[in-house]
Amino acid sequence: MKSAEIREQFLQFFASKGHQIVASSSLVPHEDPTLLFTNAGMNQFKDVFLGFDKRPYTRATTSQKCVRAGGKHNDLENVGYTARHHTFFEMLGNFSFGDYFKRDAIKYAWELLTEVYKLPKEKLMVTVYADDDEAYDIWHKEVGVPAEKIVRIGDNKGARYASDNFWMMGDTGPCGPCSEIFYDHGEHIWGGPPGSPGEDGDRFIEIWNNVFMQFNRDEAGVMHRLPKPSVDTGMGLERISAVLQHVHSNYEIDLFQALIKAAARETQAADLDSPSLKVLADHIRACSFLIADGVIPGNEGRGYVLRRIIRRAIRHGYKLGARAAFFHKLVPDLVAEMGAAYPELVQGQTRIAEVLRQEETRFFETIEHGMAILEGELAALAAGCGKVFNGETAFKLHDTYGFPLDLTADICRERDVTVDAAAFDAAMARQKEQARAAGKFRMAAGLEYDGPATTFHGYEQLECKGTILALYKDG
Ligand code: ATP
Ligand code: MG
Ligand code: MG
Ligand code: MG
Repeated sequence: MKSAEIREQFLQFFASKGHQIVASSSLVPHEDPTLLFTNAGMNQFKDVFLGFDKRPYTRATTSQKCVRAGGKHNDLENVGYTARHHTFFEMLGNFSFGDYFKRDAIKYAWELLTEVYKLPKEKLMVTVYADDDEAYDIWHKEVGVPAEKIVRIGDNKGARYASDNFWMMGDTGPCGPCSEIFYDHGEHIWGGPPGSPGEDGDRFIEIWNNVFMQFNRDEAGVMHRLPKPSVDTGMGLERISAVLQHVHSNYEIDLFQALIKAAARETQAADLDSPSLKVLADHIRACSFLIADGVIPGNEGRGYVLRRIIRRAIRHGYKLGARAAFFHKLVPDLVAEMGAAYPELVQGQTRIAEVLRQEETRFFETIEHGMAILEGELAALAAGCGKVFNGETAFKLHDTYGFPLDLTADICRERDVTVDAAAFDAAMARQKEQARAAGKFRMAAGLEYDGPATTFHGYEQLECKGTILALYKDG
């Protein structure tokens, strides 16, 4: 079954259970400064959960565009390393606004997975929040999932492993305990079940999260009960497609294979298994959808995240052998795969390609020099068995060659090297101070003054550096 059909079956299943099919909202959250990009299906319904907004329906279903590259849920560093993470993905969801709660949510999920998608029951495992006996009993006594396939997991504060069964949209907003469904891709793949030491492996892959929305978390971290208990669920279309197409990695599904082939065509890469091709296939989706939704590459906030993703893509193309703008040439392939479901891609096609072309042409002017400096430093490190990349050099790369810190860090990571971020910060602060002092001097000397003077000629403007670092630090 193609991903397009899987998406459609999901929406139709919930429509048959009285859910209104609602269109995906923009990747740029509407009037929500707490959120960098839309990171889950529930975002567009945040105010409905909080009781501030009313809709003519109490049940909804969506296929929502999501980007997780910054903010609370940040998967940028996972792309290319795990079988299941993308920066852009589609989240299939069903929602109850004070209508049904745990019992129906669990039963719908099970029915869809085992009767519509016909997944073998023995391949599924579920988790429930540590003390959620109600959800446990529904899974065990009503649905019939055997005890050894149900794992209780708390919030990860103090927990032994990374998994977390308390879902939060961000530091504030609607949240609640959740129950997740995992698929066992088989013994031949490394990894352990959720809540075990091997849970970071890719054998048991989380496909669906059912959140029992009960609280609103405020800035002080205090939980307030929502007006009515609600349901918010999210299943990654790419992950369920991998399961239904009998492949392990999301990158092996129909949609990604087409993009990987296109990336290989444009970079002349011979090895279709190269992780860089996966990164390109992932990043062309994130970049194109972000541009379609109005984000443009820039030095601050959302625009800077987009710029970082584009530059990471260019660097992977460069690694494969590309020496001139190529990334924008993947846009038509993306439109061919996803334009039918997302008309904004078709409408924006020319503009998206042009924005990308300009951005990459600019970066191709400095990447060669930057890479030479970076490689030189890495070679010197390797000769002395060093493992820490000089922060001053990282700053120079950032300032003069347009290498965002996370790009340098990404390259270093491939060689098992970390960047001295403290020295990078210090170099940045020093330069700011010098620029400020130069401004003061000019004022004292009675020179014409129309704002803080800058003496460097790098890519980024001074004012935004704080933002850049802040973004980098919180992911
Ligand atoms: P993981 O633990 O694998 O990182 P998550 O717990 O962070 O996933 P949720 O916030 O629960 O994910 O989101 C709901 C669903 O969305 C997940 O069960 C998964 O199917 C999908 N999903 C989440 N993050 C990604 C991603 N980066 N790429 C693709 N699908 C994702
Ligand atoms: Mg995650
Ligand atoms: Mg998870
Ligand atoms: Mg989850």
